[in-house]
Amino acid sequence: MSAAKHPDHVAIVGAGIVGLSTAWFLQERGVRVTVVDRKGVAGDSSWGNAGWLAPALTLPLPEPAVLKYGLRAMLNPSSPVYVPFTTDVRLLRFLVGFARHCTASHWESAMKVYAEVNRMSLGSYDELADGGVREQTHLADPFLAAFQSNDDRELLVDEFRHLEAAGGEVEYDRLDGDEIRSLEPSLGGGVRSGLRLRNQRFIDPPRFVHSLADAVLDRGGEIVSGFDVSAVRDSERRGVRLLSRTADSVTADSVVVASGARLNALARPFGVRALVQAGRGYSFSVQPRQIPKNPVYFPTQRVACTPLHDRFRVAGMMEFRGPDAPLDPRRVQAIVEAAKPMFTGIDWDSRQEEWVGSRPCTTDGLPLIGATRSPRVHVAGGHGMWGVALGPLTGRMIAQSMTGDQVPGVIRHFDPLR
Ligand SMILES: Cc1cc2nc3c(=O)[nH]c(=O)nc-3n(C[C@H](O)[C@H](O)[C@H](O)COP(=O)(O)OP(=O)(O)OC[C@H]3O[C@@H](n4cnc5c(N)ncnc54)[C@H](O)[C@@H]3O)c2cc1C
Repeated sequence: MSAAKHPDHVAIVGAGIVGLSTAWFLQERGVRVTVVDRKGVAGDSSWGNAGWLAPALTLPLPEPAVLKYGLRAMLNPSSPVYVPFTTDVRLLRFLVGFARHCTASHWESAMKVYAEVNRMSLGSYDELADGGVREQTHLADPFLAAFQSNDDRELLVDEFRHLEAAGGEVEYDRLDGDEIRSLEPSLGGGVRSGLRLRNQRFIDPPRFVHSLADAVLDRGGEIVSGFDVSAVRDSERRGVRLLSRTADSVTADSVVVASGARLNALARPFGVRALVQAGRGYSFSVQPRQIPKNPVYFPTQRVACTPLHDRFRVAGMMEFRGPDAPLDPRRVQAIVEAAKPMFTGIDWDSRQEEWVGSRPCTTDGLPLIGATRSPRVHVAGGHGMWGVALGPLTGRMIAQSMTGDQVPGVIRHFDPLR
């Protein structure tokens, strides 16, 4: 069995964007990989998300406005942020921890960290493309944010000022209602104000993640679906062994736990105490008369829309519940009601692909990336709203750290043992 530095064979739990990116970047460094997933490729959050690679919007979730808004909106099933009444101690601990981080000073320091990763995130996607991942990222030209009033618009502009003060970059133009509709004719009369953001990209999430999985397989990796890991056994002499509820165990030199919103169960025995809570989001697709060619964002309604080739995905909601809770049709209806006045030419009743998935959220809004108490057990997850944008960069950093390469200094903020 080889030493922890530069393992020959790594097992990865989770075939989402983070686990598969980790596999790909390990293969770049000559490591053999086995990816296991309780469902299959893109089995959870990495399937139904909005697919934005949007550095201008990739910001930490805990912020003072979310707390004020969240408290008002709590318990209201049609609110875009929904926290059901609960006596679940774990959820209450998460909410208290999250609320503690919703301060201006924490937000500003987290923004600086995000500004740093945002400068590198698209470059990691370019490395995947240069290395043969067939599905491409798309330049969003234009990437539009639409509002019912100029006052609403200025709230987002104010966030951009904070981002710039933290070292981030964002280029945008203000638009009036007619200007934004001339750029995106499917926008309706409810839209009276807008922003055009530059240099943002997007992907079709299911296609992209499957294409990444194909690239991992083409390079000799193994992906095992229906492998539900019940525990990780670690031994200095024999390496790690993944026990499964459903299949034979898998043995490797090291493991990366990239199991999204279910990260705690496997990582906690290795000293990871930071909570990862499902912030569940919903999406569905519609077929507008004319499918927009680029994403559209409604910040006030917290609704995100993305073209997926022949359909248009509409996503939103942040519901703090367990990852196994069933899809709640009231949330889908709430997204429909919020989006309807902003568009024209969409038959909302013929929507398809209704979906719920779990954003893996941490209390401080920062992901968990790196080694645990054991040098053979690593974690990569907890990216909350931005695991797609940051997945490949995460995969690159964890592969660098596991093979003894130089890792960007920003990784110190993501210590899983914090
Ligand atoms: C509505 C919505 C919109 C979003 N929009 C965006 C966006 O525009 N841009 C962006 O950057 N992010 C977005 N996100 C967030 C993004 O989807 C997530 O952060 C990201 O997909 C997390 O990836 P992951 O690989 O960590 O987790 P997941 O994709 O959840 O993958 C984890 C995998 O682990 C598997 N697994 C779990 N436990 C086990 C076990 N015990 N054994 C084996 N396998 C296991 C699961 O089956 C799953 O396939 C959005 C999320 C939602 C819900």
